[in-house]
Amino acid sequence: MTRNVRTRFAPSPTGLLHIGGVRTALFSWAYARKHGGTFVLRIEDTDLERSTPESVQAILDGMQWVGLAHDEGPFYQMQRMDRYREVVQQMLAAGTAYYCYTSKEELDQMRAEMEARGEKARYDRRWRPEPGKTLPEPPAGVKPVVRFRNPVDGVVAWDDAVKGRIEISNTELDDLIIARPDGTPTYNFCVVVDDLDMGITHVLRGDDHVNNTPRQINILSALGGELPVYGHLPMILNPDGSKMSKRKDPVSVVDYEKKGILPEALLNYLARLGWGHGDDEYFTLDQFVEWFDLANVSPSPSRFDHSKLQWINQQH
Ligand code: GLU
Repeated sequence: MTRNVRTRFAPSPTGLLHIGGVRTALFSWAYARKHGGTFVLRIEDTDLERSTPESVQAILDGMQWVGLAHDEGPFYQMQRMDRYREVVQQMLAAGTAYYCYTSKEELDQMRAEMEARGEKARYDRRWRPEPGKTLPEPPAGVKPVVRFRNPVDGVVAWDDAVKGRIEISNTELDDLIIARPDGTPTYNFCVVVDDLDMGITHVLRGDDHVNNTPRQINILSALGGELPVYGHLPMILNPDGSKMSKRKDPVSVVDYEKKGILPEALLNYLARLGWGHGDDEYFTLDQFVEWFDLANVSPSPSRFDHSKLQWINQQH
């Protein structure tokens, strides 16, 4: 049975709304619109040191300014803590996760020894239960982390909607910590539980998350969830190919709003970055939705030329 299309934009509120984020949101929004689906907005605010209420507001204001309306949400991860804890308990009960009492000093030592032997540093799974294995006595007074029982062999593979087939060997992946000693869930775990609970069918996001995807796929599979389609969008670079910097370059939507750029012009320009539709230079959002296809998104980084944007603004 094919599922109803559900996409999401899941920014972390650690700064202003970035144009790279707007492009991710635009593609997710357009994909949902095109397929009569639902576009969900989720605020990933679990990083308490970097998340601020001002950034949450800036994201909500920015999304409103560009005119990409969500159908559901905004959902806040900080309001879903009980749910994450519940799933951690379910996984412990099912044996797909386990308590680990290894201290930081032990981990450091373990890793140093592995590196000295020329091996890749990793957690040696000493607390992972196995048939016939005797586990150490839990040390008194130590609060454990909870680790995911990652498969030890085989590959994690997915057909990325933008980058094509990607395969990662499970031998590359550690038993990920899903809950810290104080019980708080970790980032990748929250994303998986949310994508599962929110019935997300298409995860479009920046390609800085490619490394998280095999980990998330393994956890989602352990939870019995149906895998979404993943599509990782390439970075947006300066015209000279250098990385955009928050300090030097106009990277937030507010910069464009202040310059008098129209939201339609910004969206139009972002739409054309890494996505092509013949020679059409300008199109409406409705046309974009009609023409948008993940197969036409380029896997290579796009270059953002601000002067071109100014030009579009003047034409329309
Ligand atoms: N919160 C992440 C970010 O802002 C996005 C995570 C995701 O889309 O899965 O980069």
